[in-house]
Amino acid sequence: MSNYDIGYVNCSLCEKCIDACPFDAIAVVDGKIKMNSACKACGICVDSCPEGLITPVKDQRASVDKSQYTDVLVFAEQIEGEVHPVTYELMGKGRELANKIDQELHVILLGHNLMDQTDEILAHGADKIYVYNQKALHHFDVQAYARAFEDCVEKTKPTIILIGATPVGRSLAPRISTRFKTGLTADCTILDVRENTDLVQTRPAFGGNIMARILTTRTRPQMATMRYKVMEPAAKVDNPTGEIINFSVPEAELETRSNFISITKKPEVESIEDADKIIAVGRGIREEKDLEMIKELADLIGAKIGTTRPLIEKGWTGHHQQIGLSGRSVRPELIITLGISGAVQFVAGMKSSEHIFAVNSDPEASIFNVAHYGMVGDLYNIVPKLIEKIKNGENVFKKIEKEAVAI
Ligand SMILES: Cc1cc2nc3c(=O)[nH]c(=O)nc-3n(C[C@H](O)[C@H](O)[C@H](O)COP(=O)(O)OP(=O)(O)OC[C@H]3O[C@@H](n4cnc5c(N)ncnc54)[C@H](O)[C@@H]3O)c2cc1C
Ligand code: SF4
Ligand code: SF4
Repeated sequence: MSNYDIGYVNCSLCEKCIDACPFDAIAVVDGKIKMNSACKACGICVDSCPEGLITPVKDQRASVDKSQYTDVLVFAEQIEGEVHPVTYELMGKGRELANKIDQELHVILLGHNLMDQTDEILAHGADKIYVYNQKALHHFDVQAYARAFEDCVEKTKPTIILIGATPVGRSLAPRISTRFKTGLTADCTILDVRENTDLVQTRPAFGGNIMARILTTRTRPQMATMRYKVMEPAAKVDNPTGEIINFSVPEAELETRSNFISITKKPEVESIEDADKIIAVGRGIREEKDLEMIKELADLIGAKIGTTRPLIEKGWTGHHQQIGLSGRSVRPELIITLGISGAVQFVAGMKSSEHIFAVNSDPEASIFNVAHYGMVGDLYNIVPKLIEKIKNGENVFKKIEKEAVAI
């Protein structure tokens, strides 16, 4: 169905609309102007018609009554009783959004034998926790979790739901959104809210080339996932006053076709996500063997090594070391980038780091737009000098701060 009506009766077939359309979406078919599926609804042809014959079709999709939905609901992910730290980050963002629209911050916690977890969540400032403490929820089973979550949404009608973009969250969130036929924006990097409670969800799109702002204007709840280490965690409050509300769903409704057998933990892989210091290397490194020099520097300052995607594609480093949009998000106290251009896809995964030192031979490299300190130079000169100075007991970071160009 076309997004536009054409007043055929008065159409002179002047073809001005055909010339105006940048997508070749209009043609004369059987003596009539017709739009085809290439139409992007850009509206350019509307103004091009001298007779004003092209008009947008009135949007007849129904909207929910937004006033029926209130408060921000955060999913508290727990595995084996341990609350995932992304929960507190979501609560930090959730609190900010809730304050802006003068509403409350609520948390949903699903599991079994839950005890200490609620204290910690309340200590981070939740106004209410909805607890489903049921045997069938002991281990993450997406169907059972989705049913309990659905029950909570039906009972509490939140306007915004925030879920961590973890493997658990990524599997759960779409199931909730389809049950309520509402929008879900995955991997948001920025969230804001309008006075009318519309959530402004920003995330990279088209391979990270643009930042898209997405709104769910007709339906509620509005759902977004955010990655771990993208936001500040909620601060602890002195005297928690939040309320614990126990909910449950009939056990029969939590029965699923999955049969839990056992949990096998993956072998621990060195994670850069929790590192305080990271040295990130990019294509400025010419040969794989040169990574030895980077490793020496990293060992000396107690840093972990992260990399850009091209180094992983070359097979020089492991996938778990990739920083960025399709890799890990990191927020260390210090990140030193060596020979990295600063592509948006890389920057999306590290821009919240506390201190960013960038070394690049190109003064125009866009990494300098996000760096707090920058050094224009050849990493093959700079890194050996740093190593030597550290070995001689010099406090190189004080020196870098002095010598580097503060941006
Ligand atoms: C959908 C999609 C997702 C992506 N996801 C990611 C992602 O998660 N993470 C990621 O990293 N990339 C990702 N990319 C790739 C990304 O677009 C860039 O290609 C990549 O980040 C560039 O890596 P780089 O900075 O190492 O290399 P380059 O862009 O080639 O930059 C190398 C830099 O090194 C500098 N340099 C060269 N020699 C020296 C020297 N001797 N001393 C100092 N500086 C030197 C150069 O001036 C240059 O700025 C993604 C791309 C797409 C399309
Ligand atoms: S709305 Fe845009 S894409 Fe669609 S027919 Fe008109 S000019 Fe072409
Ligand atoms: S510009 Fe208007 S009058 Fe001319 S062909 Fe298109 S619809 Fe018809």
